[in-house]
Amino acid sequence: MKEEEEKKKVIMETIAEGRKMEAYAEHRTKDMHTCWTCGVISYKKKPMKQIGKNWICIDCLRQLKEIFDTLDEWEEELSLERDAKKQLDEGISR
Ligand SMILES: [Zn+2]
Repeated sequence: MKEEEEKKKVIMETIAEGRKMEAYAEHRTKDMHTCWTCGVISYKKKPMKQIGKNWICIDCLRQLKEIFDTLDEWEEELSLERDAKKQLDEGISR
């Protein structure tokens, strides 16, 4: 009888431990976000920003900032390319 009691105690402890783990996992899931761009899953460790419905991590934000910073340059390049193409096309049609 005593042995059985002992076994029961161990089982109950195991179940209680499992429930604690579940509660912990649930709690962690609330803090968990997936980066919209690179798909990294972050807990509170990695800084993330919410943009609309999506979350984006600091690494991707830095990359985006770089793109924004060079956007003027890029647009200039694109317009040069466009002009060059236009000139070429006009040259061919003439
Ligand atoms: Zn990211």
